[in-house]
Amino acid sequence: MAGLGKYSFGTGDRFGKEGEAQLRAVLQAWENGAEVTPVWNKSHREHETVNSKPHLVREEANAAIKALNFSGKYFVDADHIDLKKVDAYLPVSNFFTIDVADYIGKSAAEKEKDEFLKFIAKFQQKINIPGIQSEFKISEEELDEILETFLFAAKKASEVYSYIEENKSEEFVVEVSMDEVENPQTPEELFFVLATFAFYEIPVNTIAPKFTGRFNKGIDYEGDLEKFSKEFEEDLLVLDFAKKEFGLPADLKLSIHSGSDKFSIYPIMNRLIKKHNTGLHVKTAGTTWVEEINVIAESGEDGFEFALEIYEEALNRFDELTSPYPDVLDIDKSKLPKVAEFRNNGCEKMAKALRHNQEEPLFNPHFRQLMHCAYKLAAEKDENFFKFIEKYRKSIEEAVTHNLYEKHLKRVFVK
Ligand SMILES: [Zn+2]
Repeated sequence: MAGLGKYSFGTGDRFGKEGEAQLRAVLQAWENGAEVTPVWNKSHREHETVNSKPHLVREEANAAIKALNFSGKYFVDADHIDLKKVDAYLPVSNFFTIDVADYIGKSAAEKEKDEFLKFIAKFQQKINIPGIQSEFKISEEELDEILETFLFAAKKASEVYSYIEENKSEEFVVEVSMDEVENPQTPEELFFVLATFAFYEIPVNTIAPKFTGRFNKGIDYEGDLEKFSKEFEEDLLVLDFAKKEFGLPADLKLSIHSGSDKFSIYPIMNRLIKKHNTGLHVKTAGTTWVEEINVIAESGEDGFEFALEIYEEALNRFDELTSPYPDVLDIDKSKLPKVAEFRNNGCEKMAKALRHNQEEPLFNPHFRQLMHCAYKLAAEKDENFFKFIEKYRKSIEEAVTHNLYEKHLKRVFVK
């Protein structure tokens, strides 16, 4: 099985310019005792939005690894793909996140349902998971509902897996993601979801469920911390039990599609993975682009004007930019600053509104979420944007490394 290792960290880079700065953050984690496997992830949607190609992510990763002499394993993740999208990623990716969101809630054939019920016969009424105090009780109706929701999706995931397996000779990591759906999955449901993977013989390495609470783009977690903590811990225990029970890969672990910046739950995750001596994969897409534009905004009159222009256009094209992310944004339009307000106050106010510093009274999560989605506009500006990246390269790289290490890696993985 592919060696993703105990701890791994998926980092996105919309424009593919910060591979080294990202890897430097991972190296800092190693220096501080957390051996984290770096993964570069990019979704199909992202590639389409900025008009980039899968092989560029591979080239970026290879170049960073070489430049910094990194000797550990590293991966390139085809994030949120399905059978229709996988081909372009086969030659360059060694991590495949199979997204089954479209198939959740679609009904499986009766014959397969019956066979699956036989497969899980001993768990049909109750499940006792070591470490979880109260047993899971499942009524016939509940189990039926779970089958209706997940069995067909698992079958579709197995089709994608088989296709990759047939077409890929080197080892690869398999993730199944179901985070981009309306309802979170309970630990009970997660147990049966893993059973469906075993039933269809998908050797899954990471599973990305949808958790309770809001995982909005680039801002902190919103939800009940105690509830999250209980759910996360039970998920870890369910995974541990299910992988032994069903013979799933020993390195199977949770994957959190964090949406970046989930500062209030990082310490909870850190404490619980240490407590249970278990692995974890965390993805943080998008945050690197926000660092780029944040530094550009505060690094001189020309950069400030450019950032203002992006923001003004983002306001005008609000629906277009935000509509791909219905479940991961909470923007109150009335709380978005006026462009003139920034213009009249100079770059400092804009930079402080954007940077995610929770002690900063000027920080504005609504503004930050919108800018998080505005990378499409920078892509359209092409050379006009890239010239700023080069002009402020040193400060941008420092900001990218600092952000990823101090705010993410350190809090999730380092003791
Ligand atoms: Zn996701």
